[in-house]
Amino acid sequence: MATYTPMIEQYLAIKAEVLDAFLFFRLGDFYEMFFEDAILASRELEITLTGREGGGEERIPMCGIPHHAADNYIARLIEKGYKVAICEQVEDPAQAKGVVRREIVRIITPGTVMDARSLSETNNYIISVVEATDGSFGFAACDISTGELFVTRLEGTAALVLDEINVYHPSELLATPELLAQLGERGTGWAGTMVLTPREHNRGQADLQLNTYFSEADLTALPVGGLPCVRQLMAYLVETQKRSLGHIKHIRIYEQNQYMIMDPFTRRNLELVETVRDRAKKGTLLWLLDKTVTAMGGRLLRRWIEKPLTSAAAIQDRLEAVDRLYHQLIVRDGLKQSLKEVYDLERLVARIAYGNANARDLCALKATLLQVPVLKQECDASGSATLAKLAAGMDTCDDVLAWIEEAITEEPPISIRDGGMIKPGYHAYLDQLREASTNGKQWIAALEKQERERTGVKSLKIGYNKVFGYYIEVSKSNLSTLEASRYERKQTLANAERFITPELKEKEGLILEAQEKMVDLEYELFMQLRDKLSLHISRLQRLAEQIAAVDVYQSMAAVSATNRYTKPEIGDYYELHIEAGRHPVVEAVMEDGYFIANDTVLNAADGSMLLITGPNMAGKSTYMRQVAIICLLAQIGCFVPADKATVPIIDRIFTRIGAADDLIGGQSTFMVEMMDIQVMTDKATDRSLVIIDELGRGTSTGEGMAIAQAVIEHLHDQIGCKTLVSTHFHELAHLEDTLPSLRNYCMAVKESGRQVTFLRKLIPGAASTSYGIYCAQIAGLPSGIIDRSYELLHAFEQRSELLQEAVAKPLEHLAGNSIDKPSIDKPSIDKPIESEEPTDDHEARFSYSSSAT
Ligand code: ADP
Repeated sequence: MATYTPMIEQYLAIKAEVLDAFLFFRLGDFYEMFFEDAILASRELEITLTGREGGGEERIPMCGIPHHAADNYIARLIEKGYKVAICEQVEDPAQAKGVVRREIVRIITPGTVMDARSLSETNNYIISVVEATDGSFGFAACDISTGELFVTRLEGTAALVLDEINVYHPSELLATPELLAQLGERGTGWAGTMVLTPREHNRGQADLQLNTYFSEADLTALPVGGLPCVRQLMAYLVETQKRSLGHIKHIRIYEQNQYMIMDPFTRRNLELVETVRDRAKKGTLLWLLDKTVTAMGGRLLRRWIEKPLTSAAAIQDRLEAVDRLYHQLIVRDGLKQSLKEVYDLERLVARIAYGNANARDLCALKATLLQVPVLKQECDASGSATLAKLAAGMDTCDDVLAWIEEAITEEPPISIRDGGMIKPGYHAYLDQLREASTNGKQWIAALEKQERERTGVKSLKIGYNKVFGYYIEVSKSNLSTLEASRYERKQTLANAERFITPELKEKEGLILEAQEKMVDLEYELFMQLRDKLSLHISRLQRLAEQIAAVDVYQSMAAVSATNRYTKPEIGDYYELHIEAGRHPVVEAVMEDGYFIANDTVLNAADGSMLLITGPNMAGKSTYMRQVAIICLLAQIGCFVPADKATVPIIDRIFTRIGAADDLIGGQSTFMVEMMDIQVMTDKATDRSLVIIDELGRGTSTGEGMAIAQAVIEHLHDQIGCKTLVSTHFHELAHLEDTLPSLRNYCMAVKESGRQVTFLRKLIPGAASTSYGIYCAQIAGLPSGIIDRSYELLHAFEQRSELLQEAVAKPLEHLAGNSIDKPSIDKPSIDKPIESEEPTDDHEARFSYSSSAT
């Protein structure tokens, strides 16, 4: 066993407290890392690995970074998902007996960063989950950079917890090791990168006084599991931050059923806040809707999109505000102009409470507060009851504004240790010190003038530097004219001499003393003001929320107006009716051509389940997503891309879309699909909207079709949810005969000679032509292969016909099935394409033959 030097022993003892973090160990002007930390850090940060004798047999690996550059390195480690513990010298090395005392002053983790370098404008959440005694889960999501804390109770399985976690895109998750394992086992994909922080059951929680943070009312309102969950969270925050968390004040409790529920796949498939392909914002619904001006507005809009409402009244309130602003361009512009002057109030306030706000932050707060009366006025001018209510609730915080205005200069420096922050007239003694300093400087200017005259040396000047203080400088050529006795020589330069006099030194003493006192006093006054402001944080936080909401309303109204959206009717009824609906994002990114609108009717009389057939690229999935997105837009209180829309409140949207998310968590496509379907059959209600693209694709044709039919029957008979299913099993079209609420639809195409044009129009009936082989032909496959393919297709279809007879009514039924919608050719399922020369310009329905895929 090696015996290390006392310092290394100290290092090891401290490191034992933070095994999961890099320990930045302060040594003079450096933070040093040792042992494994040093090896890993040198790799991650690309810094040189050295070594040091430490008393052991081998040299200890070591690397270091200058303390003044630490922030950048910390930010890089945090971004990579590491934690960093900062260990400082907590006594003066000159006074220390033996090894200087050192302590961890803060632990920075991905979920608890406050440094602007590591924060984007979006929220940075840390989530805490505990399993309550009754088997439900306590769930808390906190953004310490804004002070927001949301708490709910989740009843159900770990899958539900995962759904909720994914809503927040957290960067850190706290839970017991057992719970983390349970959540991780699902393997169905965390949102983004997230650090998992296991918490032993009682760590740091015993000493925590929750009532110093939250009101008794907030604490008693917490649901089952809420209290231990908040306790676990706050204990961790206190343990890592080791300083004031006064801005985490309010617990916002919500219930699951206040919001539409969507699982992570649905969120991804609908591309709400990130695209499936590259997880970017561009091309998402958020990207389309985000014309917010402020960072807080941007964050709130994202939250609204992630959490559509289920209360018709609350939705109506939002729609009312959007409606008014939609029609009032001038008010909208006024709001926008005013919001441009608004800073990120949530983060400013958090910095004030946290104790790292500087004078510039207070100026930003002032500029923001100055806009509040303007915003109130514009809200009133809009004529919207929702906005008027919001405006009436806005606290202009005149007192806070006045305090800052009285105290802080217009353009203070970044540092709070250099003075220059406090206005004249704010503090009498500070003014006196300033005067003394100014007088001293004037005295020096007068002395310079007087000495020039007296000696006749025009180039004589009085200067200042840090080493010698004030001095009189005379060039060598003029030295002879000086009365040497009056000046005391201090420094010789190449072509000048510098002198001092006793009076000059005396004045210098006064000036420097005044300056030092001034800087100290300014710092102290600034701290007093900051502390005073931190008592008013709740008011400022509420204001931030209100301003954010105004910003979101103007954004939704602006987007709705620009893109010709209409106000949806929404309520607690069953039927859904969309006239000429469009997919807002596909429409917005289309470069050539224009988006073809389609109707959707889902109700008891006309059917609540659509079975949609058509080849690849026909527009099936766009259509199905568009229905989901229109419902979602309505439920966040936004106008919708349709000529007219009457939509019901949807409790959940499920989507199962086969393409891009194939290999998540190492599961096979088919397994993932089946797991989703399981959740869906378990959770869907008649108020849900279910979208399944390419149902039953991942297994053999027979099995796939069997499962598809069984799932459709279950949703139809047992649940009665609104359902859109696309499938390439045209054989399933016969279900229309037996399931009264199911309707066959397909995407129309136009054939012109050998050209096929997708018309993107949804029409009733199932389709017939096999375009898979047609595509192969277009792609230039040899004619021998094409002919053979058609031959085989024909054979397969005859065989599958026999199969169909065994499980359902004969297919002839389908051909004879009357469809109550417009007059298009009856579908002919079993007509192989080779028997039919493509005719010019006719619309055809077709099926996407199972054997062609
Ligand atoms: P499918 O699901 O049938 O394979 P998609 O829905 O993916 O087809 O649509 C393919 C492409 O067609 C889309 O990327 C889009 O560019 C275009 N598209 C789809 N629907 C429409 C429409 N209604 N109007 C115009 N273009 C559309």
